[in-house]
Amino acid sequence: MVKKKVYKRLPGGTTVVRFKKRKPSKAACAGCGAVLHGVARGTNTQRKHMTKSSKRPERPFGGMLCSKCSRKQYKQSAREDSK
Ligand SMILES: [Zn+2]
Repeated sequence: MVKKKVYKRLPGGTTVVRFKKRKPSKAACAGCGAVLHGVARGTNTQRKHMTKSSKRPERPFGGMLCSKCSRKQYKQSAREDSK
């Protein structure tokens, strides 16, 4: 994982360089590639301490497809069922 340079000032007044893990990229829709809203961004350790509902929207395909693509998916599956 690529690390981020962070300048830290110590109590003695000297400045030192520390390296911090970067946040992973934003989650994208599997259908159209749009950035997903309501999906938490963080390392696995940070995500482990989050509540389940804060990690992705609580609906079918939440965290996988955007709202437009999931609407299309519901319609498609309903049309296939009626056949
Ligand atoms: Zn989409």
